[in-house]
Amino acid sequence: MDCIFCKIVNGSIPSQKVYEDSEFLAFLDIHPVNKGHLLVIPKEHHETIVDVPPELLSRLMLVVQQAAEAVRQVTHADGFNIVQNNYRAAGQEVPHIHFHIIPRFSDDGLRHWPSKSVSDEEMSSIRQKLKDALHI
Ligand code: 5GP
Ligand code: ZN
Repeated sequence: MDCIFCKIVNGSIPSQKVYEDSEFLAFLDIHPVNKGHLLVIPKEHHETIVDVPPELLSRLMLVVQQAAEAVRQVTHADGFNIVQNNYRAAGQEVPHIHFHIIPRFSDDGLRHWPSKSVSDEEMSSIRQKLKDALHI
Protein backbone atom coordinates (compact mmCIF):
# COMPACT_ATOMS: atom_id res chain seq x y z
CA MET A 1 0.00 0.00 0.00
CA ASP A 2 1.60 3.22 -1.17
CA CYS A 3 -0.02 5.41 1.50
CA ILE A 4 2.13 7.68 3.61
CA PHE A 5 -0.17 7.45 6.64
CA CYS A 6 -0.30 3.65 6.41
CA LYS A 7 3.49 3.79 6.46
CA ILE A 8 3.33 5.96 9.58
CA VAL A 9 0.93 3.41 11.13
CA ASN A 10 3.25 0.48 10.37
CA GLY A 11 6.32 2.40 11.51
CA SER A 12 8.19 2.44 8.20
CA ILE A 13 8.02 6.27 8.29
CA PRO A 14 8.75 7.98 11.62
CA SER A 15 6.27 10.39 13.23
CA GLN A 16 5.86 12.40 16.39
CA LYS A 17 3.19 10.25 18.00
CA VAL A 18 0.97 11.73 20.66
CA TYR A 19 -1.58 8.94 21.07
CA GLU A 20 -1.94 5.37 19.87
CA ASP A 21 -4.34 2.55 20.54
CA SER A 22 -5.35 -0.53 18.57
CA GLU A 23 -7.53 1.49 16.17
CA PHE A 24 -6.29 5.09 16.12
CA LEU A 25 -3.19 7.24 15.97
CA ALA A 26 -2.60 10.93 16.66
CA PHE A 27 0.66 12.56 15.56
CA LEU A 28 2.05 16.01 14.86
CA ASP A 29 1.59 17.41 11.37
CA ILE A 30 4.99 17.74 9.72
CA HIS A 31 4.03 21.19 8.35
CA PRO A 32 2.04 22.70 11.23
CA VAL A 33 -0.26 25.67 10.67
CA ASN A 34 0.48 26.52 14.31
CA LYS A 35 2.62 24.69 16.87
CA GLY A 36 0.68 21.71 18.21
CA HIS A 37 -1.18 21.03 14.93
CA LEU A 38 -2.24 17.42 15.35
CA LEU A 39 -3.54 14.79 12.93
CA VAL A 40 -5.87 12.03 14.11
CA ILE A 41 -6.35 8.96 11.91
CA PRO A 42 -7.83 5.49 12.02
CA LYS A 43 -5.13 2.88 11.51
CA GLU A 44 -7.33 1.15 8.96
CA HIS A 45 -6.98 2.70 5.51
CA HIS A 46 -10.10 4.54 4.29
CA GLU A 47 -9.87 7.39 1.86
CA THR A 48 -12.58 9.86 2.87
CA ILE A 49 -15.14 10.40 5.60
CA VAL A 50 -17.83 8.67 3.54
CA ASP A 51 -15.68 5.54 3.24
CA VAL A 52 -15.21 5.00 6.98
CA PRO A 53 -17.56 2.47 8.62
CA PRO A 54 -19.96 4.51 10.81
CA GLU A 55 -19.07 2.75 14.08
CA LEU A 56 -15.36 3.35 13.49
CA LEU A 57 -16.06 7.00 12.66
CA SER A 58 -18.01 7.38 15.91
CA ARG A 59 -15.08 6.09 17.93
CA LEU A 60 -12.65 8.21 15.91
CA MET A 61 -14.65 11.33 16.77
CA LEU A 62 -14.28 10.57 20.48
CA VAL A 63 -10.49 10.52 20.03
CA VAL A 64 -10.67 13.77 18.06
CA GLN A 65 -12.68 15.38 20.85
CA GLN A 66 -10.21 14.33 23.55
CA ALA A 67 -7.20 15.27 21.44
CA ALA A 68 -8.67 18.70 20.68
CA GLU A 69 -9.02 19.45 24.36
CA ALA A 70 -5.42 18.33 24.97
CA VAL A 71 -4.21 20.60 22.14
CA ARG A 72 -6.19 23.52 23.53
CA GLN A 73 -4.87 23.07 27.05
CA VAL A 74 -1.24 22.44 26.16
CA THR A 75 -0.93 25.24 23.60
CA HIS A 76 -3.07 27.70 25.60
CA ALA A 77 -4.93 28.31 22.35
CA ASP A 78 -7.76 30.82 22.23
CA GLY A 79 -9.63 28.38 19.97
CA PHE A 80 -9.06 25.56 17.53
CA ASN A 81 -10.16 24.42 14.10
CA ILE A 82 -11.03 20.84 13.30
CA VAL A 83 -10.51 20.42 9.57
CA GLN A 84 -11.13 17.35 7.48
CA ASN A 85 -10.53 17.56 3.73
CA ASN A 86 -12.13 15.14 1.29
CA TYR A 87 -10.83 14.60 -2.26
CA ARG A 88 -8.16 16.62 -4.04
CA ALA A 89 -10.48 19.46 -5.03
CA ALA A 90 -11.00 20.16 -1.34
CA GLY A 91 -7.29 20.08 -0.56
CA GLN A 92 -6.89 16.45 0.48
CA GLU A 93 -3.28 15.59 -0.23
CA VAL A 94 -3.10 12.33 1.70
CA PRO A 95 -5.86 9.90 0.67
CA HIS A 96 -6.16 8.32 4.13
CA ILE A 97 -8.85 10.01 6.22
CA HIS A 98 -7.49 12.36 8.86
CA PHE A 99 -8.76 15.10 11.11
CA HIS A 100 -6.58 18.16 11.59
CA ILE A 101 -6.71 19.78 15.02
CA ILE A 102 -5.26 23.26 14.63
CA PRO A 103 -4.73 25.46 17.67
CA ARG A 104 -5.72 29.06 16.97
CA PHE A 105 -4.75 32.33 18.56
CA SER A 106 -6.53 35.65 18.41
CA ASP A 107 -3.47 37.25 16.83
CA ASP A 108 -2.27 34.39 14.57
CA GLY A 109 -3.09 36.35 11.44
CA LEU A 110 -4.91 33.50 9.67
CA ARG A 111 -7.94 34.49 7.64
CA HIS A 112 -11.09 32.53 7.06
CA TRP A 113 -12.68 31.62 3.74
CA PRO A 114 -14.40 34.32 1.73
CA SER A 115 -18.09 33.81 0.93
CA LYS A 116 -19.86 33.73 -2.42
CA SER A 117 -23.11 35.44 -3.20
CA VAL A 118 -25.96 33.02 -3.98
CA SER A 119 -29.41 34.22 -5.03
CA ASP A 120 -32.57 33.36 -3.08
CA GLU A 121 -33.70 31.12 -5.95
CA GLU A 122 -30.41 29.22 -5.96
CA MET A 123 -30.57 28.89 -2.16
CA SER A 124 -34.09 27.43 -2.36
CA SER A 125 -33.11 25.09 -5.16
CA ILE A 126 -30.04 23.72 -3.42
CA ARG A 127 -31.91 23.47 -0.12
CA GLN A 128 -34.61 21.30 -1.72
CA LYS A 129 -32.06 19.07 -3.47
CA LEU A 130 -30.15 18.59 -0.24
CA LYS A 131 -33.35 17.76 1.68
CA ASP A 132 -34.24 15.14 -0.94
CA ALA A 133 -30.74 13.66 -0.88
CA LEU A 134 -30.47 13.32 2.89
CA HIS A 135 -31.78 10.03 4.21
CA ILE A 136 -30.78 9.56 7.84
P1 5GP B 1 -4.55 17.14 3.74
O1 5GP B 1 -4.15 18.26 2.83
O2 5GP B 1 -4.53 15.81 3.04
O3 5GP B 1 -5.83 17.40 4.47
O4 5GP B 1 -3.46 17.12 4.88
C1 5GP B 1 -2.35 16.29 4.86
C2 5GP B 1 -1.44 16.75 5.97
O5 5GP B 1 -0.50 15.74 6.21
C3 5GP B 1 -0.68 18.03 5.64
O6 5GP B 1 -0.99 19.04 6.59
C4 5GP B 1 0.79 17.61 5.69
O7 5GP B 1 1.61 18.58 6.29
C5 5GP B 1 0.74 16.34 6.51
N1 5GP B 1 1.75 15.37 6.14
C6 5GP B 1 2.06 14.96 4.89
N2 5GP B 1 3.04 14.04 4.94
C7 5GP B 1 3.36 13.87 6.24
C8 5GP B 1 4.32 13.05 6.92
O8 5GP B 1 5.07 12.28 6.33
N3 5GP B 1 4.35 13.16 8.27
C9 5GP B 1 3.52 13.99 8.97
N4 5GP B 1 3.63 14.00 10.29
N5 5GP B 1 2.61 14.77 8.36
C10 5GP B 1 2.54 14.71 7.01
ZN1 ZN C 1 -3.48 4.61 4.33
